[in-house]
Amino acid sequence: MILSINANQVRQVPVPETSSPACQGMDTDLFFPDKASAADSAPNEAERKALRVCAPCQLKRWCLVQELAEVSVADRIRGVRGGLRQVERRALYRAHSDAGRADQ
Ligand code: SF4
Repeated sequence: MILSINANQVRQVPVPETSSPACQGMDTDLFFPDKASAADSAPNEAERKALRVCAPCQLKRWCLVQELAEVSVADRIRGVRGGLRQVERRALYRAHSDAGRADQ
């Protein structure tokens, strides 16, 4: 699953007030597996554990957009967040960066 998020959406997504993150109170190490899977392979076991936590989270979109706004280079994106693996979010970030340049 790769979402399409444009630069305007990054600026407009407000902090959600009605939901709590599904990962609240969990050990953050769960979301930073030692190894990340490649784009052409399935998520590894450690990633699947984290993805199962994200799956029901009501804040996935906000979580993804926050990261896009926070990082300055794709290589800083690590682990699982927003229901996506590292490789998927790096691709999303690059697509977003390319779209931002095209908007200028
Ligand atoms: S989507 Fe984000 S906030 Fe929700 S469980 Fe996953 S990492 Fe936590």
